[in-house]
Amino acid sequence: MSIEPGCQFASDNTAGICPEAFSAMTEANQGFAKPYGEDSWTKRATALIRDLFEVDCDVFFTFNGTAANSLALAAMCQSYHCVLAHEHSHVETDECGGPEFFCNGTKLLLVPGADGRVDAEKVAEIAGSRTDVHFPKAKALSITQSTEVGTVYDLDVLDGIHESVQRFDLSFHMDGARFANAIATLDVAPKEVTWKRGVDVLCLGGTKNGMAVGDCVVFFNRDLGKEFEYRCKQAGQLASKMRFLAAPWVGLLTDDVWVRNARHANAMASKLAQGLQQLGVRIAAPVESNAIFADFTSEQTNALREIGWIFYEFSGVGTARLMCSWKTTDAEIERLLADCESIVTPLAQAQDD
Ligand SMILES: *Cc1c(COP(=O)(O)O)cnc(C)c1O
Repeated sequence: MSIEPGCQFASDNTAGICPEAFSAMTEANQGFAKPYGEDSWTKRATALIRDLFEVDCDVFFTFNGTAANSLALAAMCQSYHCVLAHEHSHVETDECGGPEFFCNGTKLLLVPGADGRVDAEKVAEIAGSRTDVHFPKAKALSITQSTEVGTVYDLDVLDGIHESVQRFDLSFHMDGARFANAIATLDVAPKEVTWKRGVDVLCLGGTKNGMAVGDCVVFFNRDLGKEFEYRCKQAGQLASKMRFLAAPWVGLLTDDVWVRNARHANAMASKLAQGLQQLGVRIAAPVESNAIFADFTSEQTNALREIGWIFYEFSGVGTARLMCSWKTTDAEIERLLADCESIVTPLAQAQDD
């Protein structure tokens, strides 16, 4: 029996605030500052994000990713449009209809694709399938980087998708709740997987990367970002003490903390995946970022849960989603693996017999 099993692998948002984000908040907590984004922290964070993407983009800070995605898509679509997105995408499965609500009726059209990535051919096929007035017009494509199953879109795959986007004159949205983890894997400049490959709007995640709260919407296509501050305000997403949403970004984006956090999470995931495989557990999706989809038997799942481990089943990929974060330690990985060993090995041997 392990000593303190729990929720550390249930999500990357079970971890707390990383020290750099925290100390930036503390530093911002001095004296008075102008509200609603007129403060110097918001200006600094915005400048750092522009530097990061090496382009003059518009940046808006929101409290969470659901709002970022929903409002970004609303800025791209009219009510009679539709947005193509992967069938397992967060906008489809985990936002309680937020995108449709904020878009005033825009339909989500689901695109299949292996390992959580939309298939570029399917995007073209679906975008071109109905162009008559009786069906909502295909207007935008939303993809997730890294994906909901922990894979990443590399440059070649993005080129293919960009082609379909251009062919059908779609706007291109990227849900980057775990953008840092994708960059840590791909090891390319952020511009290479965003505006240089046609991405118009990126929702950049801060929470899972080590902040207390906060994602932001980055408009590379600045026309789409016009009047976006009104959308944020109307949706209850304009922070009056904006400096505390912005300061942690300064902490994360200084000295590459954001990518170091993500590299750590990814390395932990790959270590855990290897350990599980050595125990004979099948891994159901390629481990390319900080997520592992383990295919435990129902007996194994029950046994781990009985010990006290908490994890979610997700999208029908494997049976347990295990997430690593900036905070995951070797000791926690070893503890989970030891518990797995105590229940998995006998079962795996029994299966082999
Ligand atoms: C976590 C997550 C979000 C944002 O979720 P919130 O809980 O609203 O912050 C968006 N997209 C993906 C893929 C996520 O994993």
